[in-house]
Amino acid sequence: MKRIAIVGVGVTGISVLKEMAAHDYYQNFEIVLFNEPRTLGTGVPYQDDSELLLINQTADTMSLEEEDKYDFVKWVQVNKDSTAGNKDFIPRKWYGEYLKEKLKSAVAILNPTIIQENVEVIRVLKDGTYHIESATTQGEFDKVHLCTGQLPYQDPYHLKDHPHFVYHPYPVEEKLSHFPEGSRIGVIGTGLTSIDLMRFLRNQNKNLTLGFFARNAHFSLYRGLEYDKDLKFLTLENLEKEKQMHGGFVTFSKILEWFHLECQDKGIDFQDLTYRFGKGSKEQLNHLLEENTDLGVLQGIIHKLDFYLADLMAALTQEDRELFYTDYEPLFRHFRTPMPKESLERLMDAWNTGEIQVWENMEAVEMLEERFKVKLEDEEVEVDYLINATGQNQILTNSELPTDLLRQLINERILQPETFGGVQVLWPGAEAISPRYGVLNNLYVHGQLVIGLQYGNNAHLLMKQARKVVRHDLTK
Ligand SMILES: Cc1cc2nc3c(=O)[nH]c(=O)nc-3n(C[C@H](O)[C@H](O)[C@H](O)COP(=O)(O)OP(=O)(O)OC[C@H]3O[C@@H](n4cnc5c(N)ncnc54)[C@H](O)[C@@H]3O)c2cc1C
Repeated sequence: MKRIAIVGVGVTGISVLKEMAAHDYYQNFEIVLFNEPRTLGTGVPYQDDSELLLINQTADTMSLEEEDKYDFVKWVQVNKDSTAGNKDFIPRKWYGEYLKEKLKSAVAILNPTIIQENVEVIRVLKDGTYHIESATTQGEFDKVHLCTGQLPYQDPYHLKDHPHFVYHPYPVEEKLSHFPEGSRIGVIGTGLTSIDLMRFLRNQNKNLTLGFFARNAHFSLYRGLEYDKDLKFLTLENLEKEKQMHGGFVTFSKILEWFHLECQDKGIDFQDLTYRFGKGSKEQLNHLLEENTDLGVLQGIIHKLDFYLADLMAALTQEDRELFYTDYEPLFRHFRTPMPKESLERLMDAWNTGEIQVWENMEAVEMLEERFKVKLEDEEVEVDYLINATGQNQILTNSELPTDLLRQLINERILQPETFGGVQVLWPGAEAISPRYGVLNNLYVHGQLVIGLQYGNNAHLLMKQARKVVRHDLTK
């Protein structure tokens, strides 16, 4: 019997299995799932952890059922909170429980073998099949779906070996509950992870002093009530027409033109929104909470765009992609990855009352025994613990990859780092492009590992792409 391995069982791995369960073809395969026990069936973000950690998308975007966008909302109403609404921000832990149920139904159909270990090695054999090893098992597979999620965290100040540095803060209940009463805690970074940390640590009742350190003190915006009207200019039809006329490419300036026309059509002044909220500074965030804005309209456009961001990225020349990443991406990301309003309110309340401090112009960290000295442009601040919220290391060309599967795959030139993050694959089929073997037709790479092509990594985008890849596999 032919065999398929699904390596990593979070949102993406489950979506792959679920899509397979919908096609009789896959009844002819022995399917094997690999994932260590703690995150099996939830992935890292939705694992069993504090309920204070919220999904940053509204509940109606998180359904695992393609045909019913309210499936998750209904699940929450039945199992957790009968008053939950479509636009609520739900604890990530609950979503993990939902995922586990969905996994169970797909398992009931395909009856895969579940190995509760991470894969340590994947090699390509002469006949084009794949050899996979985990701690206690090994075997050969005809097809592999690589769904391992998050890339390694950054460690820009090289603090990993210091006992008071928390390199990977999840699960927060396990990693962040040991700080002694009255400790001075520093968080490096002001992205969405820092918001999780703020929510959790402020709830600890331990008289902790909490400070955030960054090069600039800019936080995310909150998600407004999204405008839900179809796009007129940034459409797949326009993209295809343009590609046909220009040898398969679309210029970035054309995409920008469509974007501005879209904003105009929906009645928003993008320049003005950028001027008022484009930084996420303290002043801008306070204004945001006081004013009625049309930010939700902009976020609605960006959200719709999510569904074919990867197609847009794939249609850009290398030069245009570089232009996007250097000149536009930080602002696009700022508007695209907001937090729930409740989280921003908590943040600003703490910031305005001096309960937390936010330090900018961070330059270096000196490691001392059992504490740190954080060096800013013109002052120094001492803390007892530092927590890493600097995000993932998307660029995989450096030597800082941990000694795990990813390192082996890149080191043995089975996978090839992609300039804009993750590794190279054919798009949209997601077959790995190996510098050693060429296109690996049956090694599919998903999620964060293809961030340079897919760009986004939120759950609904990953589910959609996973379904697409399985349907593509069916046609081979
Ligand atoms: C902290 C955090 C919060 C997030 N919050 C949101 C949010 O609110 N909304 C949203 O839409 N997106 C969010 N995201 C984005 C997130 O990446 C996606 O939503 C989604 O969870 C990614 O799914 P995945 O299956 O690709 O990866 P994961 O969910 O991380 O699953 C990958 C799985 O692979 C396993 N694995 C890793 N290596 C191996 C190996 N060698 N062998 C076998 N298994 C392995 C991991 O243990 C894990 O279980 C968040 C991401 C993070 C990191």
